[in-house]
Amino acid sequence: MGVLEQNQDIIFRSKLPDIYIPNHLPLHSYCFENISEVCTRPCLINGTTGETHTYEEVELIARKVASGLNKIGIQQGQVMMILLPNSLEFVFAFLGASYRGVTVTTANPFYTSAEITKQAKASNARIIITLATHVNKLKNFAQEHDVKIMCIDSPPEGCLHFSELTQSDETELPAVKIKPEEDIVALPFSSGTTGLPKGVMLTHKGLITSIAQHVDGENPNLYIHKEDVSLCVLPLFHIFSLTSILLSGLRVGATILIMPKFELKQLMELVEKYKVTIAPFVPPIVLAIAKSPDLHKYDLSSIRTLISGAAPMGKELEDTLRAKLPTAKLGQGYGMTEAGALSMCLAFAKEPHKIKSGSCGTVIRNAEMKIVDLKTGACLHQNQSGEICIRGSQIMKGYLNDPVATANTVDIDGWLHTGDVGYIDDDDELFIVDRLKELIKYKGFQVAPAELEALLISHPNISDAAVVPMKDDVAGEVPVAFVVRSNGSKISEEEIKQYISRQVVFYKRISKVFFQDTILKAPSGKILRKELRKKLDDSFSN
Ligand code: AMP
Repeated sequence: MGVLEQNQDIIFRSKLPDIYIPNHLPLHSYCFENISEVCTRPCLINGTTGETHTYEEVELIARKVASGLNKIGIQQGQVMMILLPNSLEFVFAFLGASYRGVTVTTANPFYTSAEITKQAKASNARIIITLATHVNKLKNFAQEHDVKIMCIDSPPEGCLHFSELTQSDETELPAVKIKPEEDIVALPFSSGTTGLPKGVMLTHKGLITSIAQHVDGENPNLYIHKEDVSLCVLPLFHIFSLTSILLSGLRVGATILIMPKFELKQLMELVEKYKVTIAPFVPPIVLAIAKSPDLHKYDLSSIRTLISGAAPMGKELEDTLRAKLPTAKLGQGYGMTEAGALSMCLAFAKEPHKIKSGSCGTVIRNAEMKIVDLKTGACLHQNQSGEICIRGSQIMKGYLNDPVATANTVDIDGWLHTGDVGYIDDDDELFIVDRLKELIKYKGFQVAPAELEALLISHPNISDAAVVPMKDDVAGEVPVAFVVRSNGSKISEEEIKQYISRQVVFYKRISKVFFQDTILKAPSGKILRKELRKKLDDSFSN
């Protein structure tokens, strides 16, 4: 990585040369740019059923979906919500939307009705692609707002079937003119550094840049080739899976093996059966594999590269897995929905695969990184910890309908402030040491404290609340609440937990409640989260 002192800025860059990023292509054209070399190769495999589609089939189905969207009245610029577990249909819907110039907002299918409705409303979704089992959670909202519901399995009355799209005539798709630098192709939701989940506007050009940073150009450490079989078990509704596994895999012509959900035995069976070579995971999956007493029963030696991302993976866990899978190259990726990948161990190492345990690798190409002092904002040198900032055309266009949150995250010079604290060592490797922002990460899933605090405060027997992360061996972190009861209230921990459980997806459930007389706050009214976290650490260490 080169260090550049510009005026007073100390900027870190990849030592690998910048790559060409096309400005003129929409996402689908970029992903399928080299399809002629791989048209008859398997592109997608459903790990559960074995159903397989070649590259030319996937590309054709995507165009059919686009044409079908047009036929049922979905216009360019409108929004489709994909509310699905990993599936072939997820991929067809996403790519079809890109062809149609439609924006996709992705959400966890296990969200409660309230969570789905909030996101569907905020993104102004016109069509929701889902499973019949989730329809009850959306029916009322869809009726009130004239939103189409489409199921990939047997649709209940009033809903459409996905085959309406996949069986359309692709030749009837009208010409769609996409402006790659402006048009939004993906709209995942993220709470960013503070507050409630917000729509993250990712343009065609932004996502193309993210993928190119992974797999384009001369790169001695390229981690995925067209001969690879990449395991897609991480949920495609999260940006890590969508870009680093699916879209990067399509770009290089690899085979993507889709698993609808994580189940350890099935995962090991699939690795053995399909000779998986690329295994992108999150730390809890790495932990499950490392601890599995059945590991020796399966031949996992095909795994060439194992990447962990979306949450911190400690040095100890990394070392344990290295010992158990000695033939696999192991490394971390560090990224953020709003910023794409920021650094990668394997792909951008100074020397191929020589990266320290616990490090997140070196900064990606075509991007700049700086580490700034938490108080003064001044740029810091190597080995000094501060907030990690990133600049490059992969970062978001902004938060949907929220210019204030956008300005608070991306400054006027184009630097995105991640809310993560880290340092760059003498070998240019990035180490994450703390998280400044409110975000809680449960097995890599986002939990926004502000969302839980708003629910807690809405309870008549609670007068104030703060939610912070507590360390957990399995999940990494779990949300815990500090709660002030209303005058005279005797509400119990159990009642509070149940009240929250009814309203949120399983990983946002409150794990513990600590009753307080007041919530620690600064004079400005800001919750002193760091102090609360310290209080938590102290109470468990005593
Ligand atoms: P998300 O937008 O859901 O991808 O969450 C991004 C956040 O997850 C980052 O800003 C970090 O706080 C955390 N994160 C992602 N990858 C890593 C990593 N390798 N090590 C530590 N934290 C990470």
